[in-house]
Amino acid sequence: MNMTRKALILFSGGQDSATCLAWALENYDYVETVGFNYEQRHAIEMQCRKVVLENVASAFPKWGTKLGEDHIVDLSALGAISETSLTRDVEITMDDEGLPSTFVPGRNLIFLNFAAAVAYRRGITSLIGGMCEADFSGYPDCRKETLDAQMQAISLGMDKAYVLETPLMYLSKAGAWDLAETLGGQKLINIILEDSHSCYKGTRGKRFDWGYGCGDCPACDLRAAGWAEYSA
Ligand code: ZN
Repeated sequence: MNMTRKALILFSGGQDSATCLAWALENYDYVETVGFNYEQRHAIEMQCRKVVLENVASAFPKWGTKLGEDHIVDLSALGAISETSLTRDVEITMDDEGLPSTFVPGRNLIFLNFAAAVAYRRGITSLIGGMCEADFSGYPDCRKETLDAQMQAISLGMDKAYVLETPLMYLSKAGAWDLAETLGGQKLINIILEDSHSCYKGTRGKRFDWGYGCGDCPACDLRAAGWAEYSA
C-alpha cells in the first residue's frame, strides 16, 4: 500500500504561497506545484515563482527531494473578462465595498477548480493554498466558509474526497513571517524577501526592507505592515 502523502500547492510565487510551499514540504512526502498564467501585470510573478522554487529546493535539500512537477495552467480567458486594474492599466483603488479594484471576482474559486482537476490527473487529493482570512485584504473567495463550500462541491463533482489545507488562514501577515521563520529560519526568510513577489503593479525596481515592490499598492502596504510588525 502506498502511504506517500502527496499534495498539490497553488503556488503563485508571492509571500504567502512561498510560506505555504515550505509548510507543504515540511508536512508532506511529495509536493507538486501549480501556477496560473492569466496575462496581466503579474507576468513578473511567473518568473519569481520559478526562482523561489529553485532556491527553496537548493537551500533545503531535504525539501528539494520532495518537490515534484510544476504545472502552469493558462487562464488568459480570466484576464480577458476582468474589468479591473489587475488586468487593465488603471489606478489601483478601493471600491465602495472595500475591495481593491484589483479584485477579480471569484478568482480563487476558478483557481481551485483547475487545481483540483490537475490534482485528479496526478492522483493527488490534498490541495494547499495560501488563502488568509485574518489579514483580510478584500477577497471574499478567500474566506473559510467559501472554501469549505467549494471543496464540498469539488469532492461531490469528482466523486472523490478532496481536502484543502490553508495553513495561513488565521495568521496575520506578521504571523506568516513567524511561520516561515519556524519552518526554515533566516535562510527561508531571505528567499521570501529576495525572490517572492506580492506587488499588484508587478514592480520590482526598489528593494524595501520587506522585499521588492512599488511600495504603495494595497499588496505592498500589507506586506510592509506585516514585516514591520514581525521585525519590531
Ligand atoms: Zn506594490
